[in-house]
Amino acid sequence: MKNRRIAAFFAAAVLVITFASCSKEEAEHEEPSKENTVVIEPVEPKPEEDITEEIPQKEPEEQQTSSEPEEIPPEEPVEPEEPPEPEEPEIPMPEDESLLILVNPWNYIPEDYTFETETVQGKYKMNVKAAESAKAFVAAAKEAGFNMQLCSAYRTVEKSAELYQRKVNQYLGYGYSEADAKTEAAKWVAPPGTSEHHTGLAMDLVSSDYWNYYSDLEHDYEKFDSFKWMYEHCAEYGFILRYPKDKQDVTGITYEPWHYRYVGKEAAGYIMENGLCLEEYLELIK
Ligand SMILES: [Zn+2]
Repeated sequence: MKNRRIAAFFAAAVLVITFASCSKEEAEHEEPSKENTVVIEPVEPKPEEDITEEIPQKEPEEQQTSSEPEEIPPEEPVEPEEPPEPEEPEIPMPEDESLLILVNPWNYIPEDYTFETETVQGKYKMNVKAAESAKAFVAAAKEAGFNMQLCSAYRTVEKSAELYQRKVNQYLGYGYSEADAKTEAAKWVAPPGTSEHHTGLAMDLVSSDYWNYYSDLEHDYEKFDSFKWMYEHCAEYGFILRYPKDKQDVTGITYEPWHYRYVGKEAAGYIMENGLCLEEYLELIK
């Protein structure tokens, strides 16, 4: 019996020592026994929870930072889309490049420039390349309720010389010097050789009601409904408003709301859509 009690005592003592050592081992985070893993398990989820808590904190930060750039990218793609439009490859060219002939104060009409003419309205003639489109343009205006009347179309260099000299004489009569009279006259009548009317591709026209109020071509024509209609629809017939108000420095000619120039539908559409004048368009397609 004593032996059993002693054995039982030793067994109990061993258990106590074992538990005591185990609790020490737990504190040291060693995992030699099954009991340790049971104790450690509840400890591990805590750092996991900490991690999972940290991750969602990062995600909203990333979302916030990513949501800010997301607002910018939509703006950035819009900007790159715009530049390609004015780029050279997308600029339409007319099939017949002779329609783009440039005649202005710095570019005289070539002496050998010739073409066939066709009557457009009454005594007015135009280059055959523009005549049919001019007729269609005027006919469409009539359907819209505007009775457009030409007052100038194809003009020879001789005719320009005559008109120009008449204007010079007018200023000489006002007491201007010869030089000043020529300068002033050139503001109203292109000196011979520099008028776009020599090409047969240009025409001056206003609606018949205009002459009820004015006796000469004035900038005020822009106030008429017929002007607004012509301006909005000219490109559909291959015409451009040749001397816009905001391009006087580029064209060398004062604003002329009555002067239209035929360049073909492709070029006209691009020029009118982009608010250009012929000089600027020719610079772009160089
Ligand atoms: Zn004109």
